[in-house]
Amino acid sequence: MRFIFLFTFLVTTVFAFAQRNCGSTLYNSRFANEMVTQQNNSTSSRDTIVDEILTIPVVVHVLYNNNAQNISDAQIRSQIDVLNEDFRGMNADGSNTPDAFKAHAADAKIMFCLAQINPEGYAAKGIVRKYTSTTTFEVNDAMKFNAAGGDNAWNPKKYLNIWVCNMGSNAIGYASQPGAQIDRDGVVIQYNAFGRIGSLMSNFNKGRTATHEVAHWLGLRHIWGDNECGNDGINDTPQQSFYNNNCPSFPSVSSCSVDANGDMFMNFMDYTNDACMNMFTHGQKTKMRGQFAINGPRNSFMNSFACDSSMATAAPLPDDTSVTVKTIAPSFNIYPNPANNEMNVVGLNGFDLKGQLLKVYSASGILQFTKSNLSSSEKINISHLNSGVYFVAIISGKDRKIVKLIKQ
Ligand SMILES: [Zn+2]
Repeated sequence: MRFIFLFTFLVTTVFAFAQRNCGSTLYNSRFANEMVTQQNNSTSSRDTIVDEILTIPVVVHVLYNNNAQNISDAQIRSQIDVLNEDFRGMNADGSNTPDAFKAHAADAKIMFCLAQINPEGYAAKGIVRKYTSTTTFEVNDAMKFNAAGGDNAWNPKKYLNIWVCNMGSNAIGYASQPGAQIDRDGVVIQYNAFGRIGSLMSNFNKGRTATHEVAHWLGLRHIWGDNECGNDGINDTPQQSFYNNNCPSFPSVSSCSVDANGDMFMNFMDYTNDACMNMFTHGQKTKMRGQFAINGPRNSFMNSFACDSSMATAAPLPDDTSVTVKTIAPSFNIYPNPANNEMNVVGLNGFDLKGQLLKVYSASGILQFTKSNLSSSEKINISHLNSGVYFVAIISGKDRKIVKLIKQ
């Protein structure tokens, strides 16, 4: 009996280390009956703009039971770099995409930062480290809760939560789908498959486990649709018979293939090794960006400023609702709005702009410029801004007012 157990353990362990073992399908089958629709009632107030860069603040919760699991800041930063390259189509190994699929490869124009502000509004570096007595986590969300040996999420409407921990052979990673129960929302990654520096499993040493799981978090399914000859709901990913492991040679054709090009095994949503995956398609891009649209489950990220450390104060960031309220009744106003080359800024309700600090952010929360020591009535040149939606902020002590600006 003991030998049988040992044998099973060894086979399971070898299996887990040899090929990708994404737990998302198992996870979603376990928790499907707990799914609730995460509506945000359009409180972020705006839709996405075609091809604007969407920037997502990330908090990484490192849960460690030994020193090896307490991965370095540099390893964490290397993972953010990988996400930015892969979701911008700027990964160097994109050159390995076969010619037959090159036209399908897309720049999803989604980027990530380690959150510079915590939910209380204080400056932060987007990394939480916590000792856990749990030696091996399962695909059951225990890592997401203080009470279960994990670490509670930062507000999932403003942050992508990534828990990095030891899951042993249970999974290399898994993700919640958009619309999942709010306190379970996020991505879990095995500690030695995270980033591209440090001590990593040889087949999963380029940070693609997180690329794959974050794409699940943005609504993508496995490219084979989790079925034999299944459908992933994306038009430009070819049907394939099942997943691919390791590193196939092009073309890899099966009885399900629609043409001689066969499987798109180099897609991030297949199960191939990190070194062999290098692309999202235009259809996958559209699906992921659709999550941020006006009534989409991730629309609240359109108002997250947590990538900009200059917004940190001793006060909490405005939540979605307060931003909307302040847009209706601000203590300053802008005219004309929409504006062309200049905007006038005036105080309202007795609020004097004199000496105040003004900041202009892109719709995705990136600081465009600042103007300090304002006069009471200020005329500001905005001719250098591209057309689009911006947020103008006046920061006065602990208080902050934000007005939406349309640049024509
Ligand atoms: Zn997966």
